[in-house]
Amino acid sequence: MADIDLLPRNDFSRRIIHLDMDAFYASVEMRDRPELANKAVVIAQDPRKTGGHGVIATANYRARKYGVGSAMAAAQAVKLIPAEELVFVEPDFAKYHRVSGQVHGLMHELTDQIESVALDEAYMDVTRSKIPGKSALELASYLQEQIFRQLHLTSSFGVSYNKFLAKMGSEYAKPFGRTYLAPDRVQDFLDRQEIKRFPGIGKKTQERLKEAGVLTGRDIRNYGLSRLLKDYKKSGYYMALHAYGIDLSPVQASRQRKSLGKERTFEPVIYDPDRADAYLKDFSQTVAAELKGRNLLARVVVLKVRDRNFKTITRRQQIQPTSDPEVFYQLAKELLAREPEFLAEGIRLLGLSAGELEEKHYQEISLFADE
Ligand SMILES: [Mg+2]
Repeated sequence: MADIDLLPRNDFSRRIIHLDMDAFYASVEMRDRPELANKAVVIAQDPRKTGGHGVIATANYRARKYGVGSAMAAAQAVKLIPAEELVFVEPDFAKYHRVSGQVHGLMHELTDQIESVALDEAYMDVTRSKIPGKSALELASYLQEQIFRQLHLTSSFGVSYNKFLAKMGSEYAKPFGRTYLAPDRVQDFLDRQEIKRFPGIGKKTQERLKEAGVLTGRDIRNYGLSRLLKDYKKSGYYMALHAYGIDLSPVQASRQRKSLGKERTFEPVIYDPDRADAYLKDFSQTVAAELKGRNLLARVVVLKVRDRNFKTITRRQQIQPTSDPEVFYQLAKELLAREPEFLAEGIRLLGLSAGELEEKHYQEISLFADE
């Protein structure tokens, strides 16, 4: 029996898009700070100020040309990039969350079937999209254009009939590209890919495969299912599935983040109630904007406070599902007012988060069911 007949049957009826923002954090900073044009931008604390510590969150394409990338020690960037080009930018995650929320808002124009993998990466199932009569590729083009026009950022897309292929496609397209893998093109495309392009094949396994003469997707198929299973166990099984373009995993829109929040550390500590108040207001607005961007409502508000002596508390309050910043702010203020000793001691950390999140759509549907 042929290997393909032993594997699960592919489902060609689905329409899946994988979106990946290009060098996301770095692109946001370059957009907002024109002085970064023509610089090699590295998002990390400057290791020359931290005594050599720190890890790179991401780097723009110019920096990547020098071999610098995410998860590398920031000190490496100093060695690899000429000083006159190199700029370190401290990450501003609150901002990236905000922009990610805006991107999600645009995605929701197409579908609510969205699985977010990271701030800059998501799968969408557009088999039944909100914009009828458009192909998945047309929807991806539309979204790419909207992101560029409205947010001035570039993104890459892969379009196919499953998540694995959609992701292979967006990676292939990078930056600012689109790849559509139609069923009749998939096998040829996969056969030509180097093994390092396939997900789940670590460095060590790559070495082992290379020693066995397995360099491409085609070589994986030729190696054969029984040998893959024998030599690589479960990961061999996935190699076989992927080499044939098979992935039946659904886009899991319900895999939402359970909470969403903002916090800040103060050094020196703060004693001024008006300052604490101003931060709570700011946090409320940031959290609310992100919820709205993601089409979510919160059922609980959580305040976190730490004093000068590191005594930390969290206080929760249930609410009617909402994304109203005023509700968050008033509640947070009340919760803080009940703990006067923290301001007296001095506040070292203040945080506000929204929890028990749910899809606005679900909320609408379940209200409907109650009537
Ligand atoms: Mg990305």
